[in-house]
Amino acid sequence: MNTIHIDVAVIGAGTAGLAAYRAAKAAGKSAVVIESGPYGTTCARVGCMPSKLLIAAAEAAHELRHTAPFGVHVDGDIRIDGREVMDRVKRERDRFVGFVVRGVENIPAEDKLVGQARFADNTTLQVGDITVHASRVVIATGSSPSIPEPFKVFGDRLIINDDVFAWDTLPRRVAVFGPGVIGLELGQALSRLGVHVRMFGHGNSVGPLSDPAIRDYAKAAFQSEFYLDPHAKIEHMARDGDEAVITYVNLAGETVTERFDYVLAATGRRPNVANLGLENTGLELDARGVPVFDATTLQCGKSPVFIAGDANNILPLLHEAADEGKTAGENAANYPNVKPGLRRAPIGVVFSDPQIAMVGKRFADLKPGTFVTGEVSFEDQGRSRVMLKNRGLMHVYADSETGRFLGAEWTGPRAENIAHTLAWSVQQGLSVAQMLEMPFYHPVVEEGLRTALRDAAAKLAA
Ligand SMILES: Cc1cc2nc3c(=O)[nH]c(=O)nc-3n(C[C@H](O)[C@H](O)[C@H](O)COP(=O)(O)OP(=O)(O)OC[C@H]3O[C@@H](n4cnc5c(N)ncnc54)[C@H](O)[C@@H]3O)c2cc1C
Repeated sequence: MNTIHIDVAVIGAGTAGLAAYRAAKAAGKSAVVIESGPYGTTCARVGCMPSKLLIAAAEAAHELRHTAPFGVHVDGDIRIDGREVMDRVKRERDRFVGFVVRGVENIPAEDKLVGQARFADNTTLQVGDITVHASRVVIATGSSPSIPEPFKVFGDRLIINDDVFAWDTLPRRVAVFGPGVIGLELGQALSRLGVHVRMFGHGNSVGPLSDPAIRDYAKAAFQSEFYLDPHAKIEHMARDGDEAVITYVNLAGETVTERFDYVLAATGRRPNVANLGLENTGLELDARGVPVFDATTLQCGKSPVFIAGDANNILPLLHEAADEGKTAGENAANYPNVKPGLRRAPIGVVFSDPQIAMVGKRFADLKPGTFVTGEVSFEDQGRSRVMLKNRGLMHVYADSETGRFLGAEWTGPRAENIAHTLAWSVQQGLSVAQMLEMPFYHPVVEEGLRTALRDAAAKLAA
């Protein structure tokens, strides 16, 4: 039995864990990073990067099919070679993973432990036959897909996002459950790559949107392209041979039975805390079994334990995991002198088409009667029409009293870029009037944003 004494033990070598390890070392402490799975991070291996690679292939196919309105004709059939598509996805993915793995290889061997970490008490971890006595611990164990029990009937026909990126070629028919961020991105991409896709949700939600008008617009935009029922009535689910069989009431009210090669469960993710042995610690746990923590310092109670990244489920996004990892690592190193870390303005993007974005406060978090909503439709927006990307609706929210810009929800072209302009404005605490003093080039999609801001300004003045 080996025993290690260390200042900071980090559980998980993902984005948050690696940032925490580096921050603890930079603060002059001894540290180890413990990993139970393959190195390379969720983002690079099975998350942000392979999903964007699949979407890029889908966009290429979609653009080719939609050249005719420009007077540009692609003669003959468009051929999508599933093997080549998946080969590029995996090749480029491996390249991104390689960068991360090389970074991990540069970490001294004595600072890395391989195995599943479990708490024996607040500051003692068991990793296989190694006992780690750490003065402080950072939990950075990420999250995993949460799969409702009834889906297990599909056996190995049931897949999660990780499985998609392991495909050697594209299947023919996929049922996607969950039109959230992951379901929408992957489902639309597969549909554009010629896969027969049926997307089912419940509770009418579409992506992360909370503004009903934007949600309805997005729903209609996606429904014009592939089958999406955000409030599906599923009557029966079964496995028959190599097929998943689903009986559902379709949008026309008919009961239909369809067969699929795979059922993709994109039904949400939950923090990886179940097998951590948290019951052996003195930490207070919430209803999901996650330690109760301070969202600014990431400290769990007054303990020397910190929690960062998807494991704490505040904002399960890559840049948040990196920021939180740094905060947790610094605070672990300086414990008990902890301080709030950097929290940037909220920003979220769905790489669907049209894209979806949210910045600042969500519509659902605003108190009715305290704000005005500026609106723009991208359907007649100049630059968007020029590019034939004129699908979208944007709402910007401003404080009725101060005119301060609070946030926005929208679906539309180039949302990934506009989202940054808006998130920076939220973080700078700008008012709508100040934002309208900024330059807007012509002709650009941002002129649509200006129209929404002008609408908000008029309502503030009324
Ligand atoms: C399909 C998909 C698309 C995404 N797209 C985007 C996007 O476009 N933009 C964006 O910002 N975010 C995106 N995300 C989210 C982003 O990938 C995550 O927010 C981020 O990777 C979380 O990093 P993390 O360090 O918290 O977790 P991870 O990178 O998952 O690291 C956690 C690590 O902990 C290890 N571990 C778990 N338990 C233990 C244990 N007991 N002992 C030892 N090791 C353990 C795991 O093996 C894992 O390596 C996407 C996610 C998915 C799934």
